[in-house]
Order: sequence, then C-alpha cells, then structure tokens
Amino acid sequence: MIPLVDLGRQFGSLRQEILDAIAGVIDSGAYILGPKVAELEKKMAERLGVRHAISVANGTDALILVLQAKGIGSGDEVITTPFTFFASAESVSRLGATPVFVDIDPESYNLDPELLEASITEKTKAIIPVHIFGQPAEMERINEIARKYNLLVIEDACQAFGASYRGKPVGNLADAACFSFFPTKNLGTLGDGGIVVTNDDEMAATIRLLRQHGSTKKYFHEVIGYNSRLDEIHAAILLTCLPYIDEWNETRRTLAARYREKLQHLRGLQIQPEKPDLFHIYHLFSIELDHRDAVKDALSKQGIQSAVYYPQPLHLQKVFTTLGGKQGDCPVAERLSERILAIPISPFLQEEEQDQVIDAIEKSLEV
Ligand SMILES: *Cc1c(COP(=O)(O)O)cnc(C)c1O
Repeated sequence: MIPLVDLGRQFGSLRQEILDAIAGVIDSGAYILGPKVAELEKKMAERLGVRHAISVANGTDALILVLQAKGIGSGDEVITTPFTFFASAESVSRLGATPVFVDIDPESYNLDPELLEASITEKTKAIIPVHIFGQPAEMERINEIARKYNLLVIEDACQAFGASYRGKPVGNLADAACFSFFPTKNLGTLGDGGIVVTNDDEMAATIRLLRQHGSTKKYFHEVIGYNSRLDEIHAAILLTCLPYIDEWNETRRTLAARYREKLQHLRGLQIQPEKPDLFHIYHLFSIELDHRDAVKDALSKQGIQSAVYYPQPLHLQKVFTTLGGKQGDCPVAERLSERILAIPISPFLQEEEQDQVIDAIEKSLEV
C-alpha cells in the first residue's frame, strides 16, 4: 500500500530523538507551559521574524483566539475562502460572527483578491486568507484591500509552515498567522497543537491570558478564557522535528516537480501552474481530473491511496445553510471540488513508489 502520507516513516526516522525528548520532559517534572514551550515559542518567533509566538492547543483555537482577542463576535462579518478545511470558518461562527465566502482563483486555489471588494460591507471586520495545500495566498493584493477598508488580516497558515511569499515567510505576511501541528500537517506532532504568531503586543498579551483561563496570576481571573495550551511533551517533539522541516519541504518540492514533469502532458488531467515568486511547500499535491472518481478507484485497486480535499465547498455545507449560500455562488470552488484529487506526497515517499503512482495514473487515463 502506498499511503497519501507516511507518518510512521516520518516520525520513525526520528524515533530515538523523539523518545529522548519525551524522556527529557518526564525527568523535568514540568508538563504544562514549561521550558520546552518557552523555547519553541522563542524559536518560532525568531524564525518567522515576528515579536510574539503563543502556542495553543490546536490550529482551530489559534484562529478563535486571534479573532476573540481582536473583539470579533456577533454582528461582525469575516471573509474567507470556501475551499479550505472547515475550521477556517468554524472559528468565525464559534464566536458568533458570520463567515462570508469569496470564491477562489482557478490557478492558485486561493482566495481571489479581485472578488474581495464586492463582498466587503459595513460589518466586515477581517479577512482570513488560507495558504491552501502549502501555497501562499496573494497577500500583497489582499493586504492592500484590507488597508483601504481598515480590516484585520489573519493568515490561516495551517498547511504552510516553511512556505514563503516574495522572499518573506508565511506567518509574517499579515496582522497575525495561525499554524496547526496536527500530525498530518507538514510540521506536526504526535497529537494536537497550534501556534499564533504576531507583531501586535496587545493581541499577544490577550491570547496569553485567554489560553490560560483568563488568568496571568494563578487563581485570579480577569476574563472568561479557555484551557488551550500546547503540552510540554508536544513542544519537545516539535523542537526535535523543527531542524528537519526545511529538508522535508525541499523533498516535497522535488517530488512535486517530478509529478509535474511526468504527468502534465497527460490528457484529462491538469496541474496548477507554479508561481515563480511563491515558495510552495506542497503540504498536499493535488491534480485536477476530468474523471476524478474513476481515477481514484483505479488507484485504490492498485493499493495507492488518494483523497479529495475538499469534496464540498464550505458555502454549501449543511451547517451553513442558514447563511443562505447556494450552488453557483462560488463556481470555481464548486467545479474544483468535483475535479480535485490529492496523490501521495511526503518527505519519505521513495522515487520508486512515486513511479508506481505515476504509472497507475497514466494507465487509468488510457482506458
Ligand atoms: C488543519 C487546519 C486547521 C485546523 O487545525 P487543527 O490543529 O486541526 O485545529 C485550520 N485551517 C486549515 C486550513 C487546516 O488545514
């Protein structure tokens, strides 16, 4: 079987180092908000060139906490893309605000900045662009529009650790950015985790307060908060993985280039063009297919895993029907969700395995 992503191999490659890191945490006696969390936050802030990094329980909480820290709630609108994981919009609804979906660009699969202005109203407070599959969104245009209307911009960078936009790292492109350390993300841990990064001192202080029951002094509470912290054990695992992330991302890029070279001439298949000023880290490698489900079945019969991200755009999700979204509102995202297929990519996918995938796709398109 060739899995979409081989996490056993990835974490297995660092087995002893991870075990040592975990043993270090056991011996330290500090399990919540200890020295490893502090070290990870410091390293993250340094690497991304931002003043603050605040670790939290997961990427979804990272989004919720940024929005709440900026006072976004009932009566406010937040613009995002319909072609993303549910949490990008769930975070908005969780605070009682309304997600507004703006269609994507057919080449980048990211929020189309040319459609943004038409959706901005008096109620709009923020924009959440998502760097989908690891490719940075069109941040300069988005920031320019946000400045014009005085809107907050929050990068949903959950799929894009290590990516960059015109030489600047993802995470340093807006008012705040949110990362997830869910195991399958390109920088992941053996469980849940997330982090917020920002240059906004006040936002950082509020998130530190909120993640810890609204308290900075033990048993004295200033606001109603959350229990949303990154465990010390996960910080230690992430510190172990962090030195490898650039190499892992490079391998993803090499595999992506190989897929592109060998597949793009095939009929019935399209691959999004690569943009020269974007450093895409291929959290996922997705292709577009005229007969997607047939190809998916053919791959499955050969023991090759593939997956559809995402089969239903968010504006058509059952839970959001109350928002009045309907078929035809976001035609690009709707069409893409019927054509898209993610094929195996991971830093530990062997070239021979990739050749098997390429071969199977080629054969499936001949019939
Ligand atoms: C994974 C993901 C999230 C949520 O992260 P969790 O850590 O699973 O809560 C949010 N947005 C996007 C785009 C994601 O891929």
